[in-house]
Amino acid sequence: MKVTGAWLNDPNAQAVLGMLTAGGFHALAVGGCVRNALLGVPVTDVDIATDALPETVIDLAQKAGLRAVPTGIAHGTVTVVSGGEGFEVTSFRHDEESFGRHARVSFGADLKQDAARRDFTMNALYAQPDGTLVDPLGGIRDLQARRVRFVGEAEARIREDYLRILRFFRFHAQYGDPEGGLDAEALSACALHSARLETLSRERVTAEMRKLLSARDPAPAVAAMAQCGVLGHILPGATARGLGVLVHLEGGQAGGWLRRLAVLGGEGHAEHLRLTKAETRDFARIRDALGTMDAPASLGYRLGEGLGADVVLARAALFETPPPDGWQADLARGARARFPLTPRDLMPALQGPALGEALRRAEAHWLAQGFAPDRAALMAFLGVA
Ligand code: ATP
Ligand code: MG
Repeated sequence: MKVTGAWLNDPNAQAVLGMLTAGGFHALAVGGCVRNALLGVPVTDVDIATDALPETVIDLAQKAGLRAVPTGIAHGTVTVVSGGEGFEVTSFRHDEESFGRHARVSFGADLKQDAARRDFTMNALYAQPDGTLVDPLGGIRDLQARRVRFVGEAEARIREDYLRILRFFRFHAQYGDPEGGLDAEALSACALHSARLETLSRERVTAEMRKLLSARDPAPAVAAMAQCGVLGHILPGATARGLGVLVHLEGGQAGGWLRRLAVLGGEGHAEHLRLTKAETRDFARIRDALGTMDAPASLGYRLGEGLGADVVLARAALFETPPPDGWQADLARGARARFPLTPRDLMPALQGPALGEALRRAEAHWLAQGFAPDRAALMAFLGVA
């Protein structure tokens, strides 16, 4: 079976694979890039596995005129930069206990050990530089069935790394069969260790949640997370209740993970998650507006069309009522509207706190009147000649 994808023919990727094979080593694309190519969905980054040791990778890169950065040398990862693109090259690691520190093992045995350390069978798929699929664990069958299955015993794999709990739900949301349900044994292992999620760094948890909630329909995965107690350890008080309705209202449009996060509710987002500055600001604006009764036109004016839509949809999901008729046009109208009054118009008649208060009153009136009053009408409303 052949893996096809533009990334495989990309000269930058081929340069990195080629420098390794030219040195007499094996080089394979692995993980997400192979999985996504087989599913026909976009590939974000190309990870490479090799039997060359990290020092050798650095050496070969230098000889090939490529920059090598030891980004994760502790796990055997070197980032090789080719044509401005970074490729994570990770050396096979085999179990030194069973193979002995200096034992030479066959490529096949090495590859199997590399696969065995990966989290899910669908992530343990490899492609040779010419696209030939290498599938040491039978991951292709699980991928075709869209079944997220741990490599080995779920409970043992989760005990090695509790982030895998979240990754299990994340990959189900992204690539699982929404009708198929989740693996029962894995779910009970997740439930058993859910409290350990609190020991993970907020960065890692947030990165997984961002991907999970950005999936086209994360509702079944999040419902399962709530059911086995995982959701409450990520975000105390959060519930999966409104999410299915929200996804339905969204009508298949992608993006908007903050709107989905807002619908989960719960407390202490700043404490439990590590949002970017922009996300923190947008999330606060969505949440604050959810606490108001502002109509779509006002939301468009105050927040712009994007965040305004987030609020309209999130509110509709939480109240289980369809968004008001014409809400999109109202949002757009609001986003275009410009408040016609400036402080100068009211000075010197009004000054200081009275000025601010008058402007707010005029703005509220202008919003209530659907942006109709012009400058003169607003001055008359305030009683300012
Ligand atoms: P994405 O498209 O989200 O990047 P990905 O499969 O590439 O998906 P990454 O988090 O980039 O996911 O990880 C790359 C690969 O490394 C995975 O496919 C998997 O084989 C392995 N991997 C990553 N994290 C873990 C983990 N916590 N435990 C075991 N294997 C992991
Ligand atoms: Mg990746």
